[in-house]
Amino acid sequence: MRPLRQVQGEILQRVAPLEEVRVDPKEAVGLVLAEPIVAPEDIPAFTNSAMDGYAIQAASVEAVPADLEVIGEVAAGSRATDAVTRGTAFKIMTGAPLPDGADSVVRVEATEAARNSVVRILEEVAAGENVRPAGGDLASGTHVFDAGVRIRPAHASVLAALGVAPLVRRRPVVAVIATGNELVPHRTARLERGQIRDSNTTLMRTLLEALGAEVVDFGIVGDDPGVFEAALGKAAASADVVVTSGGVSMGDYDVVKSLLQGRGVDFWQVAMQPGKPLAFGAVDDRPFFGLPGNPVSVFVSFEQFVRPALLHMLGADLLFRDRIAGVLDDPVHVAAEKEVFLRVSSTRDDDGVVHARSSGGQSSNVLSALALADALAVVPVGVGELAAGDPVELEMIHWPESRSQEEVLGG
Ligand code: AMP
Ligand code: MG
Repeated sequence: MRPLRQVQGEILQRVAPLEEVRVDPKEAVGLVLAEPIVAPEDIPAFTNSAMDGYAIQAASVEAVPADLEVIGEVAAGSRATDAVTRGTAFKIMTGAPLPDGADSVVRVEATEAARNSVVRILEEVAAGENVRPAGGDLASGTHVFDAGVRIRPAHASVLAALGVAPLVRRRPVVAVIATGNELVPHRTARLERGQIRDSNTTLMRTLLEALGAEVVDFGIVGDDPGVFEAALGKAAASADVVVTSGGVSMGDYDVVKSLLQGRGVDFWQVAMQPGKPLAFGAVDDRPFFGLPGNPVSVFVSFEQFVRPALLHMLGADLLFRDRIAGVLDDPVHVAAEKEVFLRVSSTRDDDGVVHARSSGGQSSNVLSALALADALAVVPVGVGELAAGDPVELEMIHWPESRSQEEVLGG
């Protein structure tokens, strides 16, 4: 068996970041910056008011109350035509440019109308108060984001604010094929004896889409090498990466193995559980991942191999999920020669300690326990045995909402 890290390293060496393209910020979420972002201009672009109120010179208010002459009004999106001078004020709205001459804004709650066109200031302000200076968020020339950052909605909105269409790596196109004579489309209402609904396609598709890949679904091919070969050829011609499920182990009808062994694809036994058998290589120069058939193995192999590889193709710096320290609540006894990924659900106790409990059956066919898990508890090679209360590393696969309406809002 090959160590997991070694296999991960070999795969990452054999996939390369995709070409660079410029995209609109709203199409960029999930993609990765291929260049550092430097602010081409100030944000905000002009000094403006942080409050609804009156733009004044702070020195106009030597003592309160002070009456100032209101010489105009400026709303967001407009500009003052006159300058503020000692003893005068401009009525101003949040986001409106600060008139020339003004150095501060008195919020409207700290004023009252005195006479016509005269405002009474009830609180002193310091110069600069309630004012957002030009470049106060980002000054022109500031380094904003590093290359390699994966774009989230807040990054995209900063890019939008700067008017920047970022250079990113293009979205990978991934072809998905499910092998197995026993499979029928998941919408099949009544199963014949021996048939199962294809659930791996849904799993692979949605995991890929969540990563930002575009999926080409080749559906179910049976265990016939000729049919598989034809599908594979089309898949490699239409995608950057090909991912299959099933047919990589020792069975008589393992179609992936019988077709591709010795043809540019390696069949590895990885020292991990689930997900021991893995095929990886090139089909028509496209990276090829032959995942196992058991659904939980598909998931764990996807997480450990396909996910980091796709993130690398996207150009990301960080390829592996967060791991946190937790405590195992159930004792476990697993194969010591493998790195074992247990499906667990986690809760935090009052002291902030994260407790992990098995989320159900730990066999690689038990899809329901995968769905109930929010983390994979990692039992390293050489351990084999853990007692209840032992520390364990948790690889978080999902950060769910955990607080109810009642808990947060009361009632
Ligand atoms: P295999 O590696 O092809 O022998 O598949 C291992 C197990 O996974 C078998 O029990 C298969 O029936 C099951 N399996 C394979 N492909 C799928 C699929 N697409 N959806 C659900 N289960 C599958
Ligand atoms: Mg099979």
